[in-house]
This record gives sequence, structure tokens and C-alpha cells, in this order.
Amino acid sequence: MATIAMVTLLAACRAADGGPPAAPVTHAPEVVTHAPVIHAPEAVIHALEPVIHAQAPVIHADTTAAPPPLVVPAPVIVDTLLPFGPERERLTVAYLRAHRTAALTGDDAQDTRMVPRAIVLHWTAGPTAKSAWNTFSAATLSGRADLADAGALNVGAHYLVDRDGTIQRLFPEDRIVRHTIGLNHVAIGVENVGGGADWPLTPAQVDANAALVRWIASRQPITHLLGHLEYRRMEATPLFEERDPTYRTSKPDPGADFMAAVRAKVADVGLAEPPK
Ligand SMILES: [Zn+2]
Repeated sequence: MATIAMVTLLAACRAADGGPPAAPVTHAPEVVTHAPVIHAPEAVIHALEPVIHAQAPVIHADTTAAPPPLVVPAPVIVDTLLPFGPERERLTVAYLRAHRTAALTGDDAQDTRMVPRAIVLHWTAGPTAKSAWNTFSAATLSGRADLADAGALNVGAHYLVDRDGTIQRLFPEDRIVRHTIGLNHVAIGVENVGGGADWPLTPAQVDANAALVRWIASRQPITHLLGHLEYRRMEATPLFEERDPTYRTSKPDPGADFMAAVRAKVADVGLAEPPK
């Protein structure tokens, strides 16, 4: 019994001698070792951030470089999508067959879609977003004798910006919509409610167009930003395709002042103007 008691006592002594004293020895180095390792990378990351930000304007200013990997927040957009049904698809294909110089694939779903390369800004010359939405909603053109000879497809736009700057989405960005001669197969159209002397476009519309252009250009391979009034200058670029050399219009929208105001707000994005 004495032997057993002695062994038990020794075991207890070992535990007392080896256990509790060992704990602080084991834990202390962990605290000392980990603290600098955790904090050191944080200091390195913080030190690098100003370097990353400082490089951004340099990338944007170089228009020959690939589009910068921007993360641009989406502006608030109200979805008021118009139907792109079989009738609109059929009329779009007919329009493209008559006007594009490049051959179509024969796959209507594919031929009515695009990779956008340009953004064209417009004004509706009407007072309300609702009237514009109603005008664009039909698949077939009506009341536009100047355009009817060139095809029955109705006009439209991908986005509609109201006078208070509210942005409505009317068509997905990859759908071909009729809004600018020679560029419909590569251009996203943005209509602004109002225009001209009766309804001068507003500062809120300038801000909304700039935010929209910046956001689109951050996701799509856009190279050109233009106003409808400038579209004929795009004939000097490979983007322009129109079979009929007599099918041209003269457009005032959305005004040179509006284009200058929007361009000033997105100058850092590096989009080209049409050739002079
Ligand atoms: Zn226009």
C-alpha cells in the first residue's frame, strides 16, 4: 500500500512540477511570436494601398492600353424592359440584312445580338419618359416617314434617362436596337427625355449619363462615346456599316453642350470621340 501511495504521490508531484509551470512557458512564446506576424502583413498591405491607387490615373490616361480593371458601382437603374419578341427579332434581322455590310450568320437569335463598342447619347424631343417608352414599345415603326423606307423596325434605345436623372433600362445591352444609322450593330443607345429649346436637358441628366457611361465602359469593350449629332464622323472608322450611301440623316441631339458636359465628367475613362 505504501508503494502504491508513493507512486500516486510521485505522479501528483510530477503533474504539479511539470504541468502548471509548463503552461506559461508554452503560451508565452505563442503570444510573443504571433503578435508581430499578424501585424506585420497588415502594415505591408496598408503601405501598398496608396501605390495601387496612385497607378489608376496613369492606366486611364493611356487610351492605347487595355480597358482598366475598374470596379465601378452600378447607378440606380429602374427596369422597364420592352419586349423583344419574335416580331421585333424578325424586323431587326430584316433591317440588318438590308443595311449591314458584313454577312449575317443566319441564326436570328445570334444576329440580333452584339458586342457593344460605342455609346451614343440622344434626346427624345418629347416631354415625358412614358411617351418615349410608349413610342419605343411597338416592334413596328410608325409616324416616321423619313425612316420608313429604310425598314419597318421601330426605333428604340437601351436606356432612357428622365429629366430628374432616373435611369430606365429598356433593352439588354447585347440586343441590337435601331437608334443610329451605321452603328446599331455595335452601339448602346441612351435616350434623354426632353431636348431642344422647349425642354433643355438638365444637370441631373448630365450626371446620370456620366454615371451610366462610366459603368457600361467598366464592363463592356467600349472604345467610343458620341452624340447622335456626331454619328457621321464615325464613317471614318471600321465600326460604321451602312450599305446605302444615300441613307443619312442630320441630327442635332443631344446638343454639343450636353456632350461636352458629359465628356468632362468621364474624361478619365479614356473613351475616344469620333474622328474630326
Ligand atoms: Zn438621336
